[in-house]
Amino acid sequence: MTVQEGCDKFCTFCVVPYTRGAEVSRPVAKIVDDVKRLADNGVREITLIGQNVKCYHGEGVDGRSWPLGRLLHRLAEIPGIARLRYSTSHPNDVDETLIAAHRDLPALMPFVHLPVQSGSDRILAAMNRKHTGRDYRNVIDRFRAVRQDIAFHQILSSAFPVKPGKISPPPSHSSRKSDTLRRIRSNIRRGLERPRRRCGRRFQQRTWTSDWRDSRS
Ligand code: SF4
Repeated sequence: MTVQEGCDKFCTFCVVPYTRGAEVSRPVAKIVDDVKRLADNGVREITLIGQNVKCYHGEGVDGRSWPLGRLLHRLAEIPGIARLRYSTSHPNDVDETLIAAHRDLPALMPFVHLPVQSGSDRILAAMNRKHTGRDYRNVIDRFRAVRQDIAFHQILSSAFPVKPGKISPPPSHSSRKSDTLRRIRSNIRRGLERPRRRCGRRFQQRTWTSDWRDSRS
């Protein structure tokens, strides 16, 4: 179920802020009504979807802005809902209400999709991610402090154009140095040239494999 759309973060490899626009969140009451209706029709598992779902800030029933953790607490009260999940997210948006939700809600599945994109602080800065590798590891530790069995999944981007004519090495050379990252299931994706991305003009037409091989010879 979509609860949030858009993104205000402007990572330099991403088109979402240009194609989906600014962050918007659906009001809590509408989401609750939809989930109740689904539960009445036999649905037992709900996945909350948003480009940056941890930024959820929909209007609550008290008229205030509710964070994702508070929304999850409310949805867990709906009879018939046995499992809750959410995706996808940015490490900087993990707040204490979300940590508390993982601690307190049996219905919230112990799985967090948390893209790190790179293990290199230099490349993270070029990506405009606004977090470091240490920040990311701290977020993982905060989750694990309240629930040891949480499984994490991350995305690593290879071939990021650090500067014109120069791309980042494969993640195996930059992003798997820490135990924290080694213990997380990862998807590795190659950066693709797409229009409107701020890093796009830095791309060369060569593939990362040939560029990386060339840079080592
Ligand atoms: S990668 Fe995620 S956080 Fe970054 S701009 Fe795209 S949607 Fe936003």
